[in-house]
Amino acid sequence: MSRHPEWCALGAGCALGEHRAAPVAVMALGSAGVPIATGELTRVADPAGRELAEIRLRVALPPGDEAALVHLTAALAELRAVVDRLGGRHEAR
Ligand SMILES: [Zn+2]
Repeated sequence: MSRHPEWCALGAGCALGEHRAAPVAVMALGSAGVPIATGELTRVADPAGRELAEIRLRVALPPGDEAALVHLTAALAELRAVVDRLGGRHEAR
């Protein structure tokens, strides 16, 4: 077993070399003060020693299949742009 980082929550994955912090809950409020998205952020170190941010996200969808699909498509495009920007920033270092 690898040594635990000080932020490790000592979970079952430690025996396999993956260390995880306790997740942190986040919420985004819309202009009316109503939650429009919630999520969890978790710091992870994989067995190769890379440090990662695991992001679980729940986004409110409009009613109706077509409107939900359009919204989901836009959300995925935005997420792709964020991942590209963050990945590019990391590669530049
Ligand atoms: Zn651990």
